Amino acid sequence: MAAREKTRDELDMQTLRELASLPANKFCFDCGQRGTTYVNVTIGAFVCSACGGLLFKAFTLVKCRCK
Ligand SMILES: [Zn+2]
Repeated sequence: MAAREKTRDELDMQTLRELASLPANKFCFDCGQRGTTYVNVTIGAFVCSACGGLLFKAFTLVKCRCK
């Protein structure tokens, strides 16, 4: 069976997983709390759910499904 090419979404999710595994991205960019839930794609930073809720209206956030 031939290997199927990965779709753009799969590649994006793979990149997101790699970024999320970096030690610096395990802490919220805004408050420093351990455990990030969202990615602020506007500035490229991982944030916790509390800060994600506050930032939702101002920035484009993507829920990180990689954990
Ligand atoms: Zn936070």
